[in-house]
Amino acid sequence: MQHERVIIIGSGPAGMTAALYTGRAQLNPLVITGTQVGGQISITSEVENYPGFPQGTTGPELAELMQKQAELFGARFVFDEVTEVRLTDGPPFYVKTYGAEYEADSLIITAGASPRRLGVPGEELLIGRGVSYCATCDGFFFRGKKVVVVGGGDSALEEGIFLTRFADSVTIIHRRDELRAGATLQKRAFANEKINFIWDTIVTEIHGNGTVNAVTTMHVHSGQQNRIETDGVFIYIGHYPNSKFLEGQIAMDEHGYIITDEYMRTSVPGVFAAGEIQDPIYRQIATSVGQGCAAAIQLERWLSEREDVRTAAPEKAG
Ligand code: NAP
Repeated sequence: MQHERVIIIGSGPAGMTAALYTGRAQLNPLVITGTQVGGQISITSEVENYPGFPQGTTGPELAELMQKQAELFGARFVFDEVTEVRLTDGPPFYVKTYGAEYEADSLIITAGASPRRLGVPGEELLIGRGVSYCATCDGFFFRGKKVVVVGGGDSALEEGIFLTRFADSVTIIHRRDELRAGATLQKRAFANEKINFIWDTIVTEIHGNGTVNAVTTMHVHSGQQNRIETDGVFIYIGHYPNSKFLEGQIAMDEHGYIITDEYMRTSVPGVFAAGEIQDPIYRQIATSVGQGCAAAIQLERWLSEREDVRTAAPEKAG
């Protein structure tokens, strides 16, 4: 079993920042990236609100820069996914991935969140065949086509606007008559001639014969159903925390978000958490970066206090 001083689970902005800070603290961190290096920003088309990039940047570009910077200070990245942890009788904590087994003196959990599914008939079957949660990855395939976007938040609008680069028309279907998205994105979406909105409406079924060809919608007040022909369905209805592998090991709230205190400490001493796996409120790159930084600083303090106690103990005993 491979022994590590610090393992960081996840490689989104929180994990990358934790890697940078623990790297600079000479802790030689190992980052287990998860299936998407960069986490959710790796599937984000445009980033306009991360400081230092007045012209904006793309998510993948930002992820690459963050990784490079962490690697400069000794962080090591392994492309693998954690399948099991045992935290209750540590440290050391047991961490199992598809490819290896580790024991770690300390952990920072930054496994992030994943896009929620609509849960309607046709959705699962047609994923990758017109149903998508990632405009950056799949938008190109909809050149000259018609697409539907589900949701009314920042993601729905941002990715809907991005999709107009390819698609001829983008129909945003929202369950209310008021958007959750911020004012700037609303303004841009309303001004875009390729975008139209359907209000107070939900998608109840996705149809396709090999690939998506239509959705059934229902007006939430009248109950009236409609069939809308479309080539693609992009779903942006929020996220859930990627904490299944932690069940029974650490305190979480009723939605599966890890509970942390203001020092990013979890219920298990030596285990810290940062980013969207513990933050259902802000969920910004900037806040995840801040939380990753705080977790790394606290971990460093925790490790050195523990190591001080361990070196002091024999003297006391003597
Ligand atoms: P979100 O803010 O939670 O919005 C989810 C949207 O989906 C809401 O409009 C919600 O409707 C709708 N929805 C939820 N469940 C639904 C269902 N079952 N059927 C139909 N519609 C459903 O999620 P998000 O847009 O992914 O944003 C997540 C976080 O990231 C937010 O904090 C956001 O500010 C941030 N973000 C920021 C930017 C940016 O600043 N540029 C870009 C992307 C994301 P209701 O409005 O009725 O609840």
